[in-house]
Amino acid sequence: MVSIYNFSAGPSLLPREVMEQVQAEFLDWNGTGLSVMEMSHRSNAYESIIHRAEADLRELLAIPEDYAVVFMQGGGVGQFDAVPLNLRPEGKSADYIVTGDWSKKALLSASRTGYAHMALSNASSHHSDLPIRAEGNFNRDAAYLHFCSNETISGVEFPDLPDLPADVPWIADMSSNILSRPTTVSRYGLIYASAQKNIGPAGFSLVVVHRDLLHKAHPLTPAVLNYTVLAENGSMYNTPPTFAIYVAGLVFQWLLKQGGLRAIEQKNKDKAQLVYKTLDASSLFKCPVAPAARSLMNIPFTSGKSDIDARFLRFVEPRGLVQLKGHKSVGGMRASLYNAMPLEGIRALTEALRDFEKSADF
Ligand SMILES: *Cc1c(COP(=O)(O)O)cnc(C)c1O
Repeated sequence: MVSIYNFSAGPSLLPREVMEQVQAEFLDWNGTGLSVMEMSHRSNAYESIIHRAEADLRELLAIPEDYAVVFMQGGGVGQFDAVPLNLRPEGKSADYIVTGDWSKKALLSASRTGYAHMALSNASSHHSDLPIRAEGNFNRDAAYLHFCSNETISGVEFPDLPDLPADVPWIADMSSNILSRPTTVSRYGLIYASAQKNIGPAGFSLVVVHRDLLHKAHPLTPAVLNYTVLAENGSMYNTPPTFAIYVAGLVFQWLLKQGGLRAIEQKNKDKAQLVYKTLDASSLFKCPVAPAARSLMNIPFTSGKSDIDARFLRFVEPRGLVQLKGHKSVGGMRASLYNAMPLEGIRALTEALRDFEKSADF
């Protein structure tokens, strides 16, 4: 039997230990005789699950007391509407940095409901490098400055503390790199992430928001997207995605057991470096992203020829390397190396890259 290594960008692999625990507890959680799927979200049992999940998340990210943690529905794209509805007062504008497909979509959503302005972009590098602050046109009176900390499709990642104006609150879409490294939460006004990349199964988005930013929502904001309503009701104004939050809670426990985010970051750096080194040494494949902007989570690469890329994907499948196909908008391949990807998966990938190159005259 070959081991399967799943490089999907999302929904993506989860830690094996977590999956085994979910399986063991599936029919009977903690002697209750109930599956977590069948529990009232208002039961004591479920309350203990969601409270522990929040407490462990607070510990992992060192979230200060003056920030609320909200688990809500709508995924990452739901936040594209929720952010401006909650944080941009009528008549005010919001600044957006566009570094790839996801931040572009966020700007489009915000433009539908009010004023949103592209303050800075990395279009001059074809979305393959970090934007240059001096090229920006920032509005000091903006309600906030939004950016995507890791562009999942093009593989461009900001550092934890990017070189950006700090006079308006930073709002970051961390869907694909949350919990991959320590985050200085206090420098952000709000952080959000869809669940299905580095947190757990699809079904919720996580929001960490400074309490000073609550109570500003537009009156037409749907209650299920209203941070204030959800924060004041412990994420239980409506039924939260209970099972997904339970699995995420087990992932948080697993991360704490790994030594927390400093330790995880070191592992992620080691893993990503192995892949980048192999690609940089290859005369067949290359990664188009500038070295300073390279993501630890999502690595796009290509031979530049679609028939060779397709052959590579067929070559690696019997080796158990799956879901490596790049996003349809860019083609090629993409290796997503989320926290749960073991080092053996990286070794299998780098070996396959070298073997494929040796296997024929390209
Ligand atoms: C996946 C992703 C999203 C969209 O998340 P959905 O849960 O599909 O709505 C948004 N932003 C980034 C950076 C992503 O990677």
